[in-house]
Amino acid sequence: MRYVSTRGENRGAGFREILLGGLMEDGGLAMPAEYPQLGTADLDAMRAMNYRELAFAVLRLFADDVPEGVLQGLIDKTYTAEVYSNCRPGDNAEEITPVRTLEPGLHLLGLSNGPTLAFKDMAMQLLGNLFEWALSESGESLNILGATSGDTGSSAEYAMRGKRGIRVFMLSPHGKMSAFQTAQMFTLMDENIHNLAVRGVFDDCQDVVKAVSNDLDFKRRYRIGTVNSINWARVVAQVVYYFKGYFAVAPEAGAPVDFAVPSGNFGNICAGHIARMMGLPIGRLILATNENDVLDEFFRTGIYRPRGTAETQQTSSPSMDISKASNFERFVFDLVGRDSARIKALWTQGAFDLSGTDSGRFGFVSGSSTHSDRLATIRETWERYGVMIDPHTADGLKVGMELRSASTPLICLETALPAKFGATIQEALGREPERPSKFDGIEALPQRSTVIDADAGVVKKIIEESVRMGGRG
Ligand SMILES: *Cc1c(COP(=O)(O)O)cnc(C)c1O
Repeated sequence: MRYVSTRGENRGAGFREILLGGLMEDGGLAMPAEYPQLGTADLDAMRAMNYRELAFAVLRLFADDVPEGVLQGLIDKTYTAEVYSNCRPGDNAEEITPVRTLEPGLHLLGLSNGPTLAFKDMAMQLLGNLFEWALSESGESLNILGATSGDTGSSAEYAMRGKRGIRVFMLSPHGKMSAFQTAQMFTLMDENIHNLAVRGVFDDCQDVVKAVSNDLDFKRRYRIGTVNSINWARVVAQVVYYFKGYFAVAPEAGAPVDFAVPSGNFGNICAGHIARMMGLPIGRLILATNENDVLDEFFRTGIYRPRGTAETQQTSSPSMDISKASNFERFVFDLVGRDSARIKALWTQGAFDLSGTDSGRFGFVSGSSTHSDRLATIRETWERYGVMIDPHTADGLKVGMELRSASTPLICLETALPAKFGATIQEALGREPERPSKFDGIEALPQRSTVIDADAGVVKKIIEESVRMGGRG
């Protein structure tokens, strides 16, 4: 498989070459030169596969320069019932992404049973193992630098902890994460994990990361990398669970199934688009946003109008508080017939109007929710089905129910467990969320972090120091 850039670069890069990178050299995003096509016979053969078998069947098509035995080994190590053990009582952890049927034709696909209780673990755990293998092959090491307001940072740390050749430096706003999120990250005692608590807000953390990355000399010398959501391996690892979900609920071969997806950076639903382009019979991809509705606006009107930080609201589904969806360029690339000159022009403009192009032919429809919609959905789901959902999943379920068709099964993707968002659950249900037992008392465990000013120089010194000390720390 060769990868091209959405902005036109086409030098025949393979999967291994783009694995550790972020943007392509021309500033675009990596896309497969063409989508592998699966026919009826292929899909029939996949129907009975378990998660690991499905992951291998899908990923070998995209990562064909990783030896098959190696890929199989990394998948087998990643997608185990032990790693994805935080499912609800009664769900089967062996399924990795168990389906819970709320009523006939309405299902939840549990993607949040990994170590940090959010769907980002589905891809990030594989990424950690892929990175460790690729670095051991080349004898290199990598310093991962990132900023987080919660989900991404903890998911990256749990994926990279204890991995040879990898150090993680994760900036978070000091005192601004929930007690649970803080405990999840700061109780990690692995030598290669460095939690830097920045006096400031999330944007200050991001500015520091940008400033360090813009020092190209430093970046090269210390091999600074990222694990952000534009990483192609993360997107493609997410394709697998669309297949798993489809086969779990499709009444017969070839029957359409709709998916509702709570969306922020467009990474999750982009994987659904790829699965559909490969021939999986997905009927519609129902995109859900919260009050930050840039993507909903696009799919309703054809107008894309990214917004700045000042226009971005803080909501009760914080991982979707995004007003510039970094993976969206991948979809628009297909929408404009893979015309990279057009993509370059559109992203130079910033905002654009594509109301003449038909995004419906790719199955997309959309809607949005408000805080009170989410509270009502959490309450109704609890009362009607006895299932407690988190506010992000509630965004998806609310929009999914609105746009549901009577004749087509609907799968709503569960992107986090309620344990992560206690305050909103308290507000909706007047009780504390359920919590997987291994997290009991996590807030009381010893924590380790370094409080710093929002200063790129300080972060560089910490990286230099830890590299000089050698070893893995
Ligand atoms: C990251 C995240 C999302 C948004 O996913 P994208 O791939 O950015 O669209 C939704 N819900 C939760 C809980 C998340 O952590």
